[in-house]
Amino acid sequence: MSLHDLLTQTPQPHQDGKGADDPGPRNVERDRQNPDVLRPPSTDHGTIPNLRFSFSDAHNRLEKGGWAREVTVRELPVAKTLAGVNMRLEPGAIREMHWHKEAEWAYMLVGSARITTVDQNGQNFADDVAVGDLWFFPSGIPHSIQALGDGCEFLLVFDDGEFSENSTFLITDWFAHTPKEVLAANFGVAASEFEKIPAKELYIFPGKVPGALATQQVESPQGPSPMQFSHRMLAQAPIRTPGGTVRVTDSQNFPVATTVAAALVELEPGAIREMHWHPTNDEWQYYIQGQARMTVFAAGGKARTFNYQAGDVGYVPFAMGHYIQNIGDTPVRFLELFRSARYADVSLKQWMALTPPELVQAHLHLGDAALAALVKEKKPVFRA
Ligand code: MN
Ligand code: MN
Repeated sequence: MSLHDLLTQTPQPHQDGKGADDPGPRNVERDRQNPDVLRPPSTDHGTIPNLRFSFSDAHNRLEKGGWAREVTVRELPVAKTLAGVNMRLEPGAIREMHWHKEAEWAYMLVGSARITTVDQNGQNFADDVAVGDLWFFPSGIPHSIQALGDGCEFLLVFDDGEFSENSTFLITDWFAHTPKEVLAANFGVAASEFEKIPAKELYIFPGKVPGALATQQVESPQGPSPMQFSHRMLAQAPIRTPGGTVRVTDSQNFPVATTVAAALVELEPGAIREMHWHPTNDEWQYYIQGQARMTVFAAGGKARTFNYQAGDVGYVPFAMGHYIQNIGDTPVRFLELFRSARYADVSLKQWMALTPPELVQAHLHLGDAALAALVKEKKPVFRA
């Protein structure tokens, strides 16, 4: 490699007459992933907390049959409303029967799985979920996940940043910590029936790929649950825009999801998720593919730009203005998640377009073309 190539392919932290080169030590691979962190736009200013954490930097819990890693308030301290878990299960592997205090929202990234749950009325539910499908388990409701023949990888999102995947209520853990004579009394059988229970929790463990869903149904005398705990998000007809698509899933079209609202956004190369903010809640993001940048405007002259790629979690504190721009040459796909029953946003352009133009101009002194362009922005491109 020539010196010229080295210089041109190694980003240096200077632009607009400011900064200097970086003679090292440095992590060039990370610098290349972070052009807007190494060389922030000159419009960035002030101190804003970190708004990105990659699952690649999260501790990975390896078990026979799969793995799990989490991005919670401990990894990303600003993210108090939601926490995320990325989990892989090999074919037939089981995330054991459990429950937790938080509600669980999930998006299938790769492969397929069978989910089961039983509600407080003794009504049950089971379904097979594939790529682009969701599930939602309300807080305290027990459930299981088992990979089908192709294995699976999925994202779990919990409605509390303090959540930890390592402190859920596991059926094997409870059995292991209950006296055998109590188990005998509870189930009305001899204590010897419990000689072979696991000595400690299984959490994730290998299993046999289950038979077809129809052959595995357990009939409840109370009937099946009236709630649909799964949803085909990717199968929703998208809202199409000149720069991409969006699918919004919240309690309006997925009634069980009362505490997590979501949008699945796709941006073509060069396209931008327009400048906006959310009037009700923080935004937790998960990047599925592509390369993006986001600048978050925090008032008081503060703004900070981050770069995102597959496996990154992004975060926007309540009410802060932001955009997401595709800076790569492939589509960007990401999830926007909110601890809320309903998705809501406010478009900067729509706000301006629906305000008397004389008033807007008194503030911004826009060029004639910019002012004229606002006329068609009365409906924002990403409004559901
Ligand atoms: Mn769970
Ligand atoms: Mn947003």
